[in-house]
Amino acid sequence: MTSLAVPNKGRLKEPSLRLLRDAGLDFEVTDRALAVSVRNVDLELMFVRADDIPELVCDGAADAGITGVDLLEEHGNGLPHLVELGYGRCRLAAAVPTVSDVRTLADLAGARVATAHPRTTEAFFRRAGIDAQVIALRGSVEVAPKIGVADAIVDLVSTGSTLRVNGLREVGTILQSQAVLVAAPGAADRVDVHRIATALRAVVDARTKRYLLLNAPAEATERIAALIPGLEAPTVVPLAEEGWVAIHSVVDAAELWALLPRLEEAGGKGILVSPIERLVP
Ligand code: AMP
Repeated sequence: MTSLAVPNKGRLKEPSLRLLRDAGLDFEVTDRALAVSVRNVDLELMFVRADDIPELVCDGAADAGITGVDLLEEHGNGLPHLVELGYGRCRLAAAVPTVSDVRTLADLAGARVATAHPRTTEAFFRRAGIDAQVIALRGSVEVAPKIGVADAIVDLVSTGSTLRVNGLREVGTILQSQAVLVAAPGAADRVDVHRIATALRAVVDARTKRYLLLNAPAEATERIAALIPGLEAPTVVPLAEEGWVAIHSVVDAAELWALLPRLEEAGGKGILVSPIERLVP
């Protein structure tokens, strides 16, 4: 049976479970179960820590796994990212006390930099030719400058509010991260793993899109079609009323705000927007 390692706690847990359910997998999670069988697919979910998943997938203990790009980088196994999952977005960033003279990453030459991501940080400084001293800590990295053990930190940031609360100022990004699906070495091309990737990608891609339907006078078809090209071209079907058509298309959710008034101006009426569950281009 194919196994998929899934984060069992922390920030990646709930969005990962939601994604798997949205992809149509039927399973139950109990607090204690380490592994559950999916009812409707030949797949076992293994619930483990997000930071153990790179190792488990790399060893082939799981055929595939969901974890953060930052954790994969830190593990340093070079597993290819099969699908970018669009949640758990954050950046690994360098920050210094607000009062520091450091303005750029290059200014960190000679500085002591505390981080829970020593491998990624060292590799970055080496590549950038910045001679900084990396101090590996397991947690509470943001207090390191305050207690005098470091001049700067490298830590995961999403909104930046934790940095601000701790009197720190961001000076640059080392790595962009989000949750990704990875496969065990040699497993990426297997049919079962490919199916998991396709199923998850279909949900992730659909989340940023909407299905748009509208009616319009036939003479407005070209003007409207130019606004909503869709995946290939919009579907245009005649209405029962002579001289009218219905136009269907797929649009970016982020563009709707600007698009709706333009569709109205172009002659669109009865505009409907619906979510899309899955999209396989
Ligand atoms: P956890 O420590 O188990 O809550 O999960 C940490 C993982 O969530 C990290 O390795 C990142 O991949 C991801 N993540 C997303 N945003 C953040 C953030 N602001 N701080 C820490 N981790 C984040």
